[in-house]
Amino acid sequence: MVLRYSQKHKAQKNRLYQYSGKKPCYYCGRPTQDKMRHSREHAPPKMMFECFECNSITVPACEDHNTKKNIGDRAIVTAMIMGARQVLINYPQSTRITDNVLRAIKAVEPHFSQAMNEVQLQKLLVDPPPTKDFNLPYIKPQTKIHAWLRQLTAAMIWSIIGKHDSYFNWDKTWVWSPGYVSTSGPLTREEATQRFIQNKNIESKLNVLNWHLGWTAKPREYPKDIYAFELCFFDYPEEWNGMNIMFKHRFYNDISVWYTCFMVSPKTKECIIEFVGR
Ligand SMILES: [Zn+2]
Repeated sequence: MVLRYSQKHKAQKNRLYQYSGKKPCYYCGRPTQDKMRHSREHAPPKMMFECFECNSITVPACEDHNTKKNIGDRAIVTAMIMGARQVLINYPQSTRITDNVLRAIKAVEPHFSQAMNEVQLQKLLVDPPPTKDFNLPYIKPQTKIHAWLRQLTAAMIWSIIGKHDSYFNWDKTWVWSPGYVSTSGPLTREEATQRFIQNKNIESKLNVLNWHLGWTAKPREYPKDIYAFELCFFDYPEEWNGMNIMFKHRFYNDISVWYTCFMVSPKTKECIIEFVGR
């Protein structure tokens, strides 16, 4: 994986667009005729940074595309924190558990019950080996984690161009995580191993792409071990179902990693390349 740290300084010179009540929705481009129905969307949600001193990336959202109102940020953040807490419990020496991650776990832990209807710990395996009985966060299917990632990605793009890019329907964004298994119940050890190997194969293909550092809140950045993202550009979109950009969203020091793959207009792509350098 190639990260171009030298480009980071260039990105810092450029400014990001922020929420304006006059601008159309970042996700669907619906105009702001009804002010009451428009709101400020934080990307990622404020709740993720409650115990940290940092600024936020904000964008204008219509009623349907504010994740706090429609998806329930609490459920998603809680699921990720539950996953981090399982790492802490099962592997207390893991380098994934930084001071910031520990702080974030401690801050959200007392409120787990508030998200109980959407997120619970469940057994991963029907036949766990005697020494390893893993419980992992299980998110109810109605918790639209894929939609949440699509909206986060769209908000990040909006912050570079300051307007909705109508070239692409964000609902078509491909969303994938190596740590997420879609299942109706606990898996057998064999099934779990198979899925694990499949996911590792996909991930190793993605890891060799040419990744660039993404952008972050200004002037006080998001703590990198709480949220950061990288992106890569595809020069041959036909190899990627027509998509020309991929994001790698990294939450809680990579305890949760989500990829999104999508398409932007050639002009937007130019803006982003100029912003991050290439
Ligand atoms: Zn909208």
